Amino acid sequence: MIKVDRRRGCLLNQAEFADGPVIYWMSREQRVRDNWGLLHARELAGDKYPLIVVFCLAPAFVGATMRHYDFMLRGLQQVERDLRFLGYEFVLLSGAADKVLPEFVREVGAGAVVTDFDPLRIKQQWQAGIGQEIEVPLIEMDGHNVVPARFVSGKREYGARTIRPKIHRLMPEFLEEFPALGTTQVKGAGFPATDWEQVFSSLRVDETVSPVDLAPGEAAAHTALDEFISKRLVKYAEDRNDPNAEGTSRLSAYYHFGQLAPQRAALNVVACPSGPGVEAYIEELVIRRELSDNFCLHTPNYDSLDSAPEWALKTLAEHAADLRDYAYSYEDFEQARTHSALWNACQNQMVQSGFMHGYMRMYWAKKILEWSASPEEALRIVIALNDRFEMDGRDPNGYVGALWSVAGVHDRGWKKRPVFGSIRYMNDRGCRRKFDVDAYIAKWSPRSLMRYMS
Ligand SMILES: Cc1cc2nc3c(=O)[nH]c(=O)nc-3n(C[C@H](O)[C@H](O)[C@H](O)COP(=O)(O)OP(=O)(O)OC[C@H]3O[C@@H](n4cnc5c(N)ncnc54)[C@H](O)[C@@H]3O)c2cc1C
Repeated sequence: MIKVDRRRGCLLNQAEFADGPVIYWMSREQRVRDNWGLLHARELAGDKYPLIVVFCLAPAFVGATMRHYDFMLRGLQQVERDLRFLGYEFVLLSGAADKVLPEFVREVGAGAVVTDFDPLRIKQQWQAGIGQEIEVPLIEMDGHNVVPARFVSGKREYGARTIRPKIHRLMPEFLEEFPALGTTQVKGAGFPATDWEQVFSSLRVDETVSPVDLAPGEAAAHTALDEFISKRLVKYAEDRNDPNAEGTSRLSAYYHFGQLAPQRAALNVVACPSGPGVEAYIEELVIRRELSDNFCLHTPNYDSLDSAPEWALKTLAEHAADLRDYAYSYEDFEQARTHSALWNACQNQMVQSGFMHGYMRMYWAKKILEWSASPEEALRIVIALNDRFEMDGRDPNGYVGALWSVAGVHDRGWKKRPVFGSIRYMNDRGCRRKFDVDAYIAKWSPRSLMRYMS
């Protein structure tokens, strides 16, 4: 029988368990394997109650485009197929979760609802509303962090150096193998299979940002993980800062959409012979990524300049009136119309492929700070572009990455400069010392940009 560590979970309301089907409201973790929320719901359902997996499809989601919806829905199609194969029901509800889920819970006479931990505001608001409205327990399980975000620390951590020892201390306990979900013999109500064609045709999202060439779904995510581990992990520590080497895992979209458990990747990586690649990957995947969840969980205004540390706000204010060498609008940036061939190449990489290399994201965002009218405006532009074009956008990592670049979050003060004050500075010369800038520019020239913008 499945047993799940209760420290991964949190009861979001005070309701009593009732007889009836258990609902797993799938949200951040869109997969069948290695999913603590689904496993906990399975444990609660036992051999007595049906388990119904529900996904609420919001007609529009904070600026998500067809690029994101297409990837997500094609992943969910595979989720439904795999769940039905194991004997579980899958229901796609159309509408925002806080509107459609409570009614469904009442309709099926559910005994409990389990869902995924997610520190982002809209999810927290939905969960709070739903928790109040339903008369059965709403349980949140953290399937995104190896060491659950609510467990690792009760406060916003200062930076990687303060959260790292906490995570490392708890990793041996939490980095455990997942139990198998297994099949069920309990008969459900027999919900009809989802009409995916109808779902796709009913979408009302921005289609000007088209899907990219990235295979969606759990199976593709596992293939990508295996390929990274067998071919690139050994040299990850060396290659990850060279945007031309393509030496990183390229798994962030799979993590963002929950098609791959970060804990699965961590388990498979630590099973490899130890070395600098393993160490560096765990630092990014576990420490840095979980630091982002910690920040958003304890900082409700995680996408605003107000959430920056005091020293950073002070230095940015002192340099607010500094003359900018260039001042671009959102549209200039979006259409890669700056004077810098390197910056334009970064933007093109993101627009064309849905992915910008991590080192370039830092440079790209810092230049937006340098060439915008104000830090507030720069942050707004960084977040808007990142969320619109990156396959892994609208993620805690994105908000923290933007704030790190523009406003010193999780960083320290550096030598003072115009506009930046003591926020860390980056420039083209630094890039040239690290990698072949001309090769990067040649690769990401604007040749096919129009296709995506028309
Ligand atoms: C301005 C800016 C915006 C960013 N926007 C996003 C975003 O929207 N979504 C997103 O997932 N990441 C974002 N990042 C963090 C990082 O750049 C990406 O996670 C990484 O480039 C994804 O590529 P990869 O999977 O090949 O990374 P790898 O180098 O293979 O790293 C493995 C995993 O570790 C995590 N990771 C890596 N770098 C970081 C980091 N700096 N902070 C937190 N976690 C990290 C990611 O989950 C990543 O998939 C942003 C960084 C900056 C500076």
